[in-house]
This record gives sequence, C-alpha cells and structure tokens, in this order.
Amino acid sequence: MPTIVTHAAIPLCLGIGLGRNIIPTRLLLTGVALAMLPDLDVLSFKFGISYGNMFGHRGFTHSLLFALLVPLLCVLLGRRWFGASLKHCWLFLTVSLLSHSLLDAITTGGKGVAFLWPWSNERFFAPFQVIKVAPFSLSRYFTASGHQVIASELLWVWLPGITVMAFLLWRRAAR
Ligand SMILES: [Zn+2]
Repeated sequence: MPTIVTHAAIPLCLGIGLGRNIIPTRLLLTGVALAMLPDLDVLSFKFGISYGNMFGHRGFTHSLLFALLVPLLCVLLGRRWFGASLKHCWLFLTVSLLSHSLLDAITTGGKGVAFLWPWSNERFFAPFQVIKVAPFSLSRYFTASGHQVIASELLWVWLPGITVMAFLLWRRAAR
C-alpha cells in the first residue's frame, strides 16, 4: 500500500479543486474516509488471517465490487446529508474508493489486488509499478528506505494530484 495518508490525496485534491458547490465538505470528508477504508483489512493480520486470503490484506475490501457497492450504499443513506446531487455523490465516492486499489496496484511490493473478488481471488498488479510499497511499521519510515517511500509517493501521487487541483482551481477562477 502507499501510506494511508497518501490515499487521501486523490479525494482531497479533486474535492478542493472542484470546489464546495460540487463537492461539499461532508462529501469531501466521506471521500477521504472511503479512500482509506480498504486498508482496515490490515486488522486481519491480528486475527491470523493470511495475506493471500480473500479476507486478508488487499482482499475483498480492494475489489471492484466493494468499490461499486459501498459508495452506492453511502449515497442511498446519506444523499441529503451530503448536500450534493446524486450523480456527484456517487461519482466522487466511487472514484475516491476505487483510487485506493488502483494506487495499490502500482506499488512495487506486497501481493497484488483482488480486483475480481468474489469471482476470483487472483491478485493483480498494473503493468507498471512505480510507487515504493509502504512499510507496515511506522518506525521504518525513519530509515533510508522509508524516505524513498515518501519520495515516491510525493512524485507519483501528490505531485500529479496537486497539479490537477491547481488546474481545476485555475479553471474555476478563470470563469
Ligand atoms: Zn490497500
């Protein structure tokens, strides 16, 4: 996985760039939460569930089905609370959640992502992997390899994210 905070970059940059009229604060914060949600599955290690199990890390919470159904459920339950149109809520939450698995698929380590659960437990990577996989232990961020992880996330996630955000902000300001 990229660092959990880096998963928040996609909804944050998109939401701030599009502005509160399209992505109100509550919707933005829900998008951030959904972008980080799949990695709750690391708790499975505490229960002795293996990495390769469908309930293990990068298992069902990283699947396409999960990325389609959970946003749908959020929209059905919280549409009025979000204060945005049905289309914007669903699109933003789906992109936020799906971005998690897509980012995981371009990391350089761990097992791939179970995109096709429940039809298949096969793990997939993208054809290219550029983001250095993040360590599970916080202390390892203070080593040379930890610094490389942070540098690769800045380069491959935050830099493109902030570029898109700046473009969207500029487009709104130019109107
Ligand atoms: Zn993940």
